[in-house]
Formats: sequence, structure tokens, C-alpha cells
Amino acid sequence: MTNRREWLGSLGVAAAGGLAMTGFGTGMNALAVDVANNPAANVGDRTSTIKITKLTATPVMRKVFLKLETNHGVTGWGEIDQLEPNVAAMLARSLFELIDGENPTRIEHLWQKIYRSHRDMRGGPVMTQTLAGIDMALWDITGKLWGVPVYRLLGGPTRNKVRFYPTPNATKVGCGPQPFSGTPQQIESMVKQVEDARKRVGPTGIVMFDAHCAMPPPFLIQFATAIKPYDVLYIEEPAVPGNMEVFKRLKQHISIPLAVGEQARTIWDVIGYLHEGCADILQVDCAHTGGITQLRKIATLGEAYHVPIAPHCVTTDLGATASLHCSAAVPFFLIHEYYPSISPPGLVKKNWSIDKDGYASLPEGVGLCCEVDEPKLLELAKQPIVPEWPTRGRMPDGSIADY
Ligand SMILES: [Mg+2]
Repeated sequence: MTNRREWLGSLGVAAAGGLAMTGFGTGMNALAVDVANNPAANVGDRTSTIKITKLTATPVMRKVFLKLETNHGVTGWGEIDQLEPNVAAMLARSLFELIDGENPTRIEHLWQKIYRSHRDMRGGPVMTQTLAGIDMALWDITGKLWGVPVYRLLGGPTRNKVRFYPTPNATKVGCGPQPFSGTPQQIESMVKQVEDARKRVGPTGIVMFDAHCAMPPPFLIQFATAIKPYDVLYIEEPAVPGNMEVFKRLKQHISIPLAVGEQARTIWDVIGYLHEGCADILQVDCAHTGGITQLRKIATLGEAYHVPIAPHCVTTDLGATASLHCSAAVPFFLIHEYYPSISPPGLVKKNWSIDKDGYASLPEGVGLCCEVDEPKLLELAKQPIVPEWPTRGRMPDGSIADY
């Protein structure tokens, strides 16, 4: 059997193995005819000569900028976020072995090839967030080859502009670690935050609250009851992911919509929330979910449950633009997070902007429609990499808390 497979592989028809088998045993000519006549034999995408030739992963600050090069001179960029940058860069360089010489336009195939490459690492944050950077670069290359912005490849824009926050009329407040349940004074001071936010944006604006997984359920239920008058759009990360029963309990007691999924990586991480009715909004992150490819699938899953995405985003303008392309193309969308100050000035050149009402314009151009200033990147890469190991999750008694 092994020899037969190897022989078929040498003919370049390994992907059409099942088909080729039907001709096997009837002679070489019969096999050649079967392969030529069956479209499945083209799975190898022999209609194109473009190949991935090089991957460069450059750690900068707390991010990794990833560049893919091809034999046709077209290049693509992606961003890896929220990992130890040196580790992520090394992993990306190692994963290059899986895509070296491959056609970069086979995005889904390459995503699967990397994601399913190691059964014991698949779905984990280190693997999936590294894959996100590669995925963004593949979409960038493909858009450039097709001569269209990435959102065109995703089915075209479903909206003219994309609502962003924070803006003067859309704001999010939040909290750090809290005790098991709150005293009246503790609850009151946190409610004041929400009340002040509502005053700032007025009756037409949006207020969101980020619980950062840092409020134990009894405290969150007390608090959520107290902020009802201020019409909060959603409470983000109401609990630490892991036990759906906790989310079901919160859902029973809290009438404000719950946003989940910041730490979700794949469709399998969000399906439980949707199935149990525990997610009103999916605040998934393009840089966490293995890039545009998986974010779009999660959005489709949410659509089936009438649950929109509200993408979490703490990347530079490169990752934010990748997320914007996806947000522009999916039908069920609420609002997008974005912090311009995360991008070092001049490093990423984008051509979209946010208007006075807080809406981002659609990117114009080809691929991701943004450019990385490479000399500037190399200059910034000389600075020491300082991984972020937050120590903010501490209680007054010195014990560790979620945050
Ligand atoms: Mg959050």
C-alpha cells in the first residue's frame, strides 16, 4: 500500500488518491486518462506557479511582524499578538516548513495544514495565535494577486462603514480583581463609573463594561442589577472560560447582554456558549482565532444564532486592518475595538480613518491595503523585547486573582 501511495504521489496525484485507485490495475494509460478527466486531480492547484519562498518573523515590542515572500515578488504581512514574542517568532519560523513551496492562495488548505499539523498542539493559544499572523499574510498576498481588497474576497462589504470604539460616543469601562461579593460602598463606586460613562456619551451613545473575568459571580450579579438604569450594551468577559454552568447561572440572573469569546480560538471554543444561549455577543479577536479564516467562520456560527461579533482588538494597525476587512464583510456585526496608540508612529501605513461619528471607512487598495515600513521595523526591532507577564491579578491578601 505504501509503495502504491508513493508511486501515485510521484505522479503528482496523491491528493486524488481515491480516484486514481479506480484506474489502478488496468494499466498506466487507464490511470492517466482517469486523472486527466477528473477535476479532483487539480486539487494540487497546478494551474498556478506561485509559491511561498520565505517567512520572516520580526519581534517588535510585544508583537511579531510576519512577512511572507513568494517567487512572483508578491509579499504579505501579518501580526502575531499576545504571545511571548521571541517564542512566537521561533514557532512561526518552524511552521514555515509546512508552507514552504506551497501556493499561498490556498488559504483554507494551508490553515488546515498548520492547525492540524500536531494533534497535541492544535487549538492552543500559542499555535493558533501564531497561525493568525500567517493567515493574515496569506490573505494579504491573495488580495494583491487578485487586485482587490481582502473584504472583496470574503464576499464583498456588507456595510459602508464599520462602527468602532472607543470614540466620543462609544466608550468602555471596566474593572480589575474584585472580592467574592461587594459591600454597598464597593458596588456604588463601580456603578459611578458606568453612570459617568453614560453621562459622557449621552442618551444616543454606547456604554460597555469589561468585567475582565475578574468579578466573581455573586459580585457580578449584584453589580449588573445596580447598573440596569444605564443601558449598558454588554458586559464583556463575565466569567473565566471553562465551565458553562457558571455562564448559565449568570445568564439566569443578569438581563444585560453578555459578550464572550476574547479567549476563544476556534469555532469549537464558541459553539458551547451559542448552544447554551450564554452568548449575546461574540467579542472574538482576529489575532486570537487563527486570523481572518477562523474569525469569519465564528461569525457565521454566530449568525446562525443571531449573535453578532464585536471584535476584541489590541493589535497594531496591521492586525486591526485585517480584523476590519473581516468585520466589513460579515453580516452580523456590532462594534469593533481599536486603539491607535498601540501602533508606533509611521510603522504601519493604512488608508482607512474613523469619522466624527465613530465609523471606520473601508480600506482601499489591494490585499490588506496597508504597508509596513521595513526600515522602521528593523530599527524598532533593535529595542529589547519585553514580554508582558501581567502581575495585576492580585488580591489585597496577596493571593492570585483572575484578570
Ligand atoms: Mg476584554
